[in-house]
Amino acid sequence: MAAESSKAGEKRAEMEVDELLKMLQLSEEEKDGVVLAKEDRENLPAVKWMAAAKLLTAKEFSVTSLVSTMRSAWNPAREVTFRSIGKNLLVVQAFCLGDWKRIMEDGPWIFRGYALMLEELDGSTTIPSEMPSKVLGWIQIHKIPHLFRTEAIVKQLAAKVGEVQEIEMKAIASRTGDFHRVRVKLAAAKPLIRVVTLAPEGQARILLQVKYEKLPRFCAHCGLVGHVHLECGAGEYTEKDLQFGSWMVADAESWHPGTPRFRSSAPGDREMPRDGGGRGGVKPTRGGRGQVGGRGGRGPMWKAKVTTTSESGSRKRTSADVGDDNKDDRELDDMASSPVKTAAQAGVGEEPPPGARKQLVMDAGPVVPL
Ligand SMILES: [Zn+2]
Repeated sequence: MAAESSKAGEKRAEMEVDELLKMLQLSEEEKDGVVLAKEDRENLPAVKWMAAAKLLTAKEFSVTSLVSTMRSAWNPAREVTFRSIGKNLLVVQAFCLGDWKRIMEDGPWIFRGYALMLEELDGSTTIPSEMPSKVLGWIQIHKIPHLFRTEAIVKQLAAKVGEVQEIEMKAIASRTGDFHRVRVKLAAAKPLIRVVTLAPEGQARILLQVKYEKLPRFCAHCGLVGHVHLECGAGEYTEKDLQFGSWMVADAESWHPGTPRFRSSAPGDREMPRDGGGRGGVKPTRGGRGQVGGRGGRGPMWKAKVTTTSESGSRKRTSADVGDDNKDDRELDDMASSPVKTAAQAGVGEEPPPGARKQLVMDAGPVVPL
């Protein structure tokens, strides 16, 4: 305990020095720097596979446990290093392309219900020129009318939600209609998008529901990721103030390839890698799902959980949970969260607003909360 607080003190002192350095009036000698000519700069060996990482939360957390959780979630083939460079700011470096792709493409990575945001670094600055501010994730755009199922249209629709990374053009069947999947980077500073509107000329506009295959904790009031509505402002909201909810999170069974329901609803529709496909860069983009099989035996248990509601009861209980009613401690044990886990398991549904459990009826018409 004492060691930890003295460490925190050191860190604070270091940050204060950084601030001080910025305000100093430099002497001529100090200003006279080492000049790097363009060609010298270009000849520098490239810094590879390095990213800045930041947890999307205002709360305190243990960097040590974040690091060990991510190490176990990423399960890298080679070493992955972590270096703390500020409060809630780390530099992560991988040493092979496979590990790098998994870390950068298989997110969202969730720790205690909060997203770990990553931003690639070129190593040319001490402090990242662009702070990590995006959350990677797969979204589903539901029930796009057949006529409009072109890549260009799906891309434009998805771009309303986030920065498009990858589009799967094959529609996937589910209990509640089919959908298209897109991997996007969500801007952490913007509220989550719940619907996208398609407005074909000469035709009434069509609202299409967006579902998220995995979401960190998000706010039912303002729609931002990183806190829940009870922590938003004074946290006192009526049901109608809660415009976002767990209905935005896709049923894991609708996209999780290991479940019998999925297999029967979309026979042969997609491959089901069983060897942790994303690792080693073989199928990085499918790694999140492939990994489920790779981790072995999680499917059925998972399904059973998912068929309950997305309340705290559906959370995966680890051995450490047993007989432990402390929610925070339970979260600590349940934070190694790669895309294989549902948002509910990761804690999103922990405090579902009363309105959140209601279904959203999206039949190419207006939003009608029941
Ligand atoms: Zn909020």
